[in-house]
Amino acid sequence: LAAAGPSTVAGPVTTTDGHRVAVVANIAEAKDAERAAAVGAEGVGLLRTELTFLSAATEPTPEDQRAGYAATMAPLAGPAGSRVLVTARTLDAGADKPVPFLHMPPEPNPALGVRGQRVFDQDVADRDGVLDRQLAALVGGAADAGVRLKVMAPMIATAGEAARFVARARAAGVEEVGVMIEVPAAVLGARELLAEVDFVSVGTNDLTQYLFAADRQSGALAGLNDPWQPALLRLLDQLCREAAVSATPVGVCGEAAADPDLAVVLVGLGVTSLSASPAALPAVAARIAALDLDTCRGAASTALAAPDADAARAAVRAAAT
Ligand code: PEP
Ligand code: MG
Repeated sequence: LAAAGPSTVAGPVTTTDGHRVAVVANIAEAKDAERAAAVGAEGVGLLRTELTFLSAATEPTPEDQRAGYAATMAPLAGPAGSRVLVTARTLDAGADKPVPFLHMPPEPNPALGVRGQRVFDQDVADRDGVLDRQLAALVGGAADAGVRLKVMAPMIATAGEAARFVARARAAGVEEVGVMIEVPAAVLGARELLAEVDFVSVGTNDLTQYLFAADRQSGALAGLNDPWQPALLRLLDQLCREAAVSATPVGVCGEAAADPDLAVVLVGLGVTSLSASPAALPAVAARIAALDLDTCRGAASTALAAPDADAARAAVRAAAT
């Protein structure tokens, strides 16, 4: 029998030399939150909020939205006084996530079209308060569930989009507001963008797709959509360097964070929060807790210098064994 891996996250995660890394969960509904709580996740790094909207013929009422978020977050509520952090992403409609009641006109290239925050950005489309009602429902639902809320927007490309989102989230009463980094332009414009936000979280699934111009749903292009691609890691390195200047926390909530070897590389690059499906978290936490920060930085340098994804993966694995 193979030795069983760790089954829980086992408390706040630090490297052996005390560098703190938040190991948090990706969830979409209450049963994911129960799983996250069961494995000891420290919180939620990505609450995907599309689920109730994808099937809705009309916009769910503010009361229903609030009750739904409260029910999703409630399994994570800690003992009184220790309010668990939940990072919710506002509605990421369009492309692979159509929302019927938004009546979005068909587009020839949906992945490059009016999707994510673009659906609600006043410079692009006017959706009559849908985003503002969702933000208010998230604030109310988090209060009802007894968790601390952070909110972030999907598919942000420019500092202007970030600023407009932050203003609306703050107006709704959200205290910590961030954006997802899923578009390469957001990294190249990081200096201006980071000045607008409290944190960023990298969606490596979309960032890879847009960096390599390779549809994330195409099996034939899976080799390009590999988060070990050195070009992706170099882009993340650039983001982390820029974020260090402004002391802005950088999370990763795409599939990359679920791979313990890659998680080491991400921590070495400067990522301070890793969010993945609950089942992946114990192994990620155990790996980070077994290494010191210099070893993580060494793994990052190794991966950054590799000529391709397979070489990066092999070199980091070889160094770890
Ligand atoms: C991502 O793009 O990496 C991400 C976390 O968001 P989603 O997979 O929901 O697009
Ligand atoms: Mg995404």
